[in-house]
Amino acid sequence: MTEWIRALEQAGLACRAHCALAPRGTFRIGGTAALAVFPQSREQLLRALCLLRDAGERYAVVGRGSNLLYPDGEYPGTVVFTGGVCGLELHGTECVAEAGASLPSLALRARDAGLSGLEFACGIPGTLGGAVLMNAGAFGGCMAQVVLRSEYWDAAAGRCGSFAGAAQEFAVRSSIYAQQSRYTVLSAVLRLRQGSRSEIAARMEDCRRRRAATQPQGLPNAGSIFRHPPGQYAGRLIEECGLKGVCVGGAAVSERHAGFIVNRGGATARDVLALIDLIRECVLRRTGIRLECELRRLDGQPI
Ligand SMILES: Cc1cc2nc3c(=O)[nH]c(=O)nc-3n(C[C@H](O)[C@H](O)[C@H](O)COP(=O)(O)OP(=O)(O)OC[C@H]3O[C@@H](n4cnc5c(N)ncnc54)[C@H](O)[C@@H]3O)c2cc1C
Repeated sequence: MTEWIRALEQAGLACRAHCALAPRGTFRIGGTAALAVFPQSREQLLRALCLLRDAGERYAVVGRGSNLLYPDGEYPGTVVFTGGVCGLELHGTECVAEAGASLPSLALRARDAGLSGLEFACGIPGTLGGAVLMNAGAFGGCMAQVVLRSEYWDAAAGRCGSFAGAAQEFAVRSSIYAQQSRYTVLSAVLRLRQGSRSEIAARMEDCRRRRAATQPQGLPNAGSIFRHPPGQYAGRLIEECGLKGVCVGGAAVSERHAGFIVNRGGATARDVLALIDLIRECVLRRTGIRLECELRRLDGQPI
């Protein structure tokens, strides 16, 4: 590990050993990463990814950590945080942004430029890279509707490339990037539409109001934990099992929206996993449906 850190530092990359993960995720849960790297430019991000590949190091790429459950102990690899790689340019109706650009900031920049298409994204607290990977969406909109193409680093081939249109394999909360861990999203080109600034702002305000009325406010969480089973709402199935407010340790099913788990204080990943097991068991027993998780682990293993 020491040699590896030296190589990164020689490349001008900020690194931190035994880096606390909880402050770097919206759940505020987690132990440490053996090493964390904070690239501040696309060049530094690529340098880190190349060095990691050459060293055969285990690693994970993280944006805002708003859809992640970090482990309680130490992740025995390197976590590359993309937040510093956040360039953003508007060219006519196209928006070109780097992986670490904040999705709400993108939505606001688009609004200010009178560009419509990202209204749905204003309350999704992730980065562009995480949103492309997850095909993040809300209120009828999703990334698949606006992402023209995305550029990636392919660790298996050791080169950069890009996917356009259908090659990105967008599906409900999924994409080729979610299916294949060899890829890191570097940037994306979004196609938006000219629109009225005040109408765009009104649609965003409507999204904000709907979120405030239905989703937990004030307690750390990672958004919806489960995918919606076909024709059903995960939250409703959980609520019908009488699970609102049920807790394991510091983790609780939100009283506001049963599809969310909140950290009431001091929750561990173990608490969240035990609560997920309990929810799944109850819903399966009552409905015969096995809920799939939207929440991801740092090591890419399914929950
Ligand atoms: C309050 C709240 C509300 C939310 N509402 C919504 C919602 O309405 N709709 C919705 O879809 N989601 C929602 N989410 C979930 C989350 O914000 C989205 O999934 C978001 O797109 C994740 O982005 P991120 O940068 O935080 O990704 P992270 O959580 O950092 O990572 C998610 C996954 O993407 C991978 N990843 C991240 N960046 C890259 C990259 N550059 N290249 C390759 N892999 C990468 C990670 O390894 C991980 O597997 C919500 C979350 C919260 C906390």
